[in-house]
Amino acid sequence: MLYLNTFIFSAIFASFIQVAATHLPLRQTFMFRFSRCDFCQRRLTFFEMIPLLSFIILRGKTWCCGQKLSRSYLAVELLFPILSTFFVYFERSASNRILLLICLAFLFFFLLTDLTYLHIPDVAVLVFFSIVLLLRLREGTPFSSILWQFSCSFSFYGLIYYIFRKGFGMGDAKLLIILGTALGFKASYWIFFLALASANLILGFAFLFKKITWKKKIPFVPFLFTGFLIYLILQTGGV
Ligand SMILES: [Zn+2]
Repeated sequence: MLYLNTFIFSAIFASFIQVAATHLPLRQTFMFRFSRCDFCQRRLTFFEMIPLLSFIILRGKTWCCGQKLSRSYLAVELLFPILSTFFVYFERSASNRILLLICLAFLFFFLLTDLTYLHIPDVAVLVFFSIVLLLRLREGTPFSSILWQFSCSFSFYGLIYYIFRKGFGMGDAKLLIILGTALGFKASYWIFFLALASANLILGFAFLFKKITWKKKIPFVPFLFTGFLIYLILQTGGV
């Protein structure tokens, strides 16, 4: 039952994340407002806002004007619940679960803003950091230890940003500092290492097959997200 609930709630949450990620960077309001059709701007009915089901029943088309909806809706509404349920299943400790799900949700949000706008909104970074701090304090971690993990992460990623400013953005550094505070510096270092490894591998192949040129600016959060997932899978022994 826990897994079913996790799946359903994270599917609803995924569509919220998607709306937030496409509206927040443009400074549009996304809370307390009615969702509208992407094409004819008509207000969506409650039924059309049900994630996954509405997409499947309407066969990926809008109800009002029959336009084809972007496949990314389905991908987001499917990927996030699958990942959440997976981690809830493999992570036994309840307080770890919450922290991991929060990190997963925020990284997912930044993944979308980085892919869509090459942008990591500071407001969301601040909210992410505050929630992580509160959760860490609530689980009884001494403040000095949180401060130590934060300081290590801050100095290390600050330095990396200072040296490699071209390929590594300030937003990426901020996210890694928060991950270091949430999961410990060592964990964040592994995530960073795995992110770099996957970036090298994927970009290397893309370059080889001439899919990209070096001049193009490449979002790094997708690789951070990949690093985070690989780290968690290795950690929780889900393989
Ligand atoms: Zn429409």
